[in-house]
Amino acid sequence: MRAVWFLILIVFLVYKSLLAVERPSTVHDVYFKGTDYELHVYKIYGRIPGNTMLIVGGIQGDEPGGFLSADLYSDLRLEKGDLIVVPRANFKSIILFNRGVDGDMNRIFHKNRIETEMDKVVAIIKKLMSESDIFLHLHDGWGFHYPKYIDSLRNPKRFGQSIITDADIYECGNGKKIDLKNIALKVLNEVNQKIGEEKYYMHYFNTNTDDPKTPFSDMKKTATYFALKKYCIPAFGIEASKNLPSVEMKVLHHNYAVNAFMKLFDIIPEQPKIFLPKPEFKYVVLQINGDPKIVENRKILFVPKGAMVETIHIESNYKRGLSCDFLGINGLNDMGVPIKIEKDTTVIFRKDNEKIGEVFLKVLGKTEDKNLVFIIEVNGKKEAFLDGETLKVKRGDKIKIVKAFYENDDGSDIAINFKGFVPKNVNTNTGDDRGYLIEIDDSFLKKYSIYVDKEVYPVEAKSIDGEKLGRIYIAIDQ
Ligand SMILES: [Zn+2]
Repeated sequence: MRAVWFLILIVFLVYKSLLAVERPSTVHDVYFKGTDYELHVYKIYGRIPGNTMLIVGGIQGDEPGGFLSADLYSDLRLEKGDLIVVPRANFKSIILFNRGVDGDMNRIFHKNRIETEMDKVVAIIKKLMSESDIFLHLHDGWGFHYPKYIDSLRNPKRFGQSIITDADIYECGNGKKIDLKNIALKVLNEVNQKIGEEKYYMHYFNTNTDDPKTPFSDMKKTATYFALKKYCIPAFGIEASKNLPSVEMKVLHHNYAVNAFMKLFDIIPEQPKIFLPKPEFKYVVLQINGDPKIVENRKILFVPKGAMVETIHIESNYKRGLSCDFLGINGLNDMGVPIKIEKDTTVIFRKDNEKIGEVFLKVLGKTEDKNLVFIIEVNGKKEAFLDGETLKVKRGDKIKIVKAFYENDDGSDIAINFKGFVPKNVNTNTGDDRGYLIEIDDSFLKKYSIYVDKEVYPVEAKSIDGEKLGRIYIAIDQ
């Protein structure tokens, strides 16, 4: 009996540990990848658990203040609480800078059936609402919302520069009351102090969505109303104005509002963000005699003797602390220094003190190089030959040229030409004889033999650029 309880306990603990999320961390989910409605969701878990705030931007494609602000929050790291950020809800409309190419995505939240691509996006946003304690919906609206009619741009029907609620106090189905107005006024007080200029102040805007007499009954189809009604979470529309003088100001005013909401809901950013993933080397851009080339980790790059080689960019998951070192030449940090390459050289790359990658520069057109290795299969058995060596075969033997390679290279780029051998049943002779099963017989072109009275054929390795790298010889026994 005790064993059963023990087992139940173990199962419970394992289950709990599977549910536990790593803190702090960011989980990035991508939906509908490669389609017009590609959707990115960032779940940012703070060091200490707390409230979860959902921030959605770009549900309408022509509101950059909202989606560019939301975008900035995707990269946050949090000391306390969680964020779920959907920076670009309607990617297709953002690409086309259009309010809604396939209709208004913020007028379909009342729908239940999932029929269109937009419905699929909306279904995901609804799911995220169910995981949240508060929802902010970022928009750029026309004009300036103001409680009194001033002019056509500044009046109670304009949406710009406002925080929108569906009710002052919303009563959920379960009787819980949410004081939306009080929250919004606290945020507005803080935001307007930051904005400073009165003509740009944000104002409180209650659309009274459930009131039968409201001129804004359309709001029943929106995301904020859905979150409030279905999940009983405080939901606010934050509107910058499309008529603000710059995109930067629109983003800034959004940030003021989001920051004030975060503060109120005790969601605290980590400042500065700690970023310590394992350093990764992706590739380096080397300029060879003025010609840029992308080189991946541990690759060989063939350069002409005396070439000027300069490291112009190291692609890594870090921007700073990167260096490159041409071993034995110049100092420790050769970033951006043109270096003349006279002999084979290894270049290593570091992030601070950690080596993250290396590439090998091989000088072309030299004879002293002995580390080119040829692999030849002789009667089914692989044998290695160094540059300059001779393989002795007799008639009836079967050979296959497998490859030639340098140390640290896989040799896939090195072609090998068996001079005097012509592959049968092949239309064009590419000069690369790797992979053929070659029977030693009388069919070789004797003019390629390096002796008149003996059959000794050179087998040459060449780089993709056609430079000769080395050769071995195949001597056919008389
Ligand atoms: Zn909008």
